[in-house]
Amino acid sequence: MRFQNSNNKTIKIAIDGPAGSGKSTIAQKISDLLNIFYLSSGAIYRIIGCFLDCKQINPEDSDSIVQILKEVKIEIKDNRYFLNGEDVSDKIKSSKSGMLASIYSKNPVVRKKVNDIIREISEKNSIVIDGRDIGTVVLPNSDLKIFLTASLEERARRRWKELKEKEENISYEEVLKEIEERDKADSTRDISPLQPAEDAIIIDTTDKTIEDVVEEISCLLKEKGLYGNNCS
Ligand code: C5P
Repeated sequence: MRFQNSNNKTIKIAIDGPAGSGKSTIAQKISDLLNIFYLSSGAIYRIIGCFLDCKQINPEDSDSIVQILKEVKIEIKDNRYFLNGEDVSDKIKSSKSGMLASIYSKNPVVRKKVNDIIREISEKNSIVIDGRDIGTVVLPNSDLKIFLTASLEERARRRWKELKEKEENISYEEVLKEIEERDKADSTRDISPLQPAEDAIIIDTTDKTIEDVVEEISCLLKEKGLYGNNCS
């Protein structure tokens, strides 16, 4: 694993964007390319959302959330996510956990908990993180900020295909509606709304392959001296 760049500083790469924009696939590929850690901030929101829902906590009851979050220990090992020792990586991929993440992530105490976890990990490790507010709020000093977008229909199609592969019984129309709702909730909330950082590079992935996008980002990394030689 590579933990530092030539200036002896850890490398931080923020990949933000809406659901289905390709963030997690691309972030994972970039982390493999650089041989650094990959973290999905959405996965942490999903774990916490499912946990709080299971305990039937009102999403606006900050006092109870603060108390109950003291019981939560999240660990990440080899790209697997553990909640109090249990591997929940597969469980949190459902569309329901995405909705729960979106509901509970509006609460500032939930966001603080997630941001503390991310900052603690990224202090010690070079890292690629995907999310909604990594470049704007969580790690505004990231070495490279990417904001991925794609048309609503294309994002819904990708997410639907992914859920079908996991044998979730859901129609394309339901996924489209769910993504539309999450987009609205994520971009209109008061705290850390989904939006590109001023200095983010925006990449529309609608008509691009994963390889195209990885190539584009690897050129940006080269230009910044974070990977290999400069692109011609
Ligand atoms: O990225 P993913 O689809 O797994 O995220 C699930 C939900 O978690 C998002 O819809 C959003 O509400 C929330 N989230 C967030 N901030 C992040 C990452 C995810 O609010 N940095």
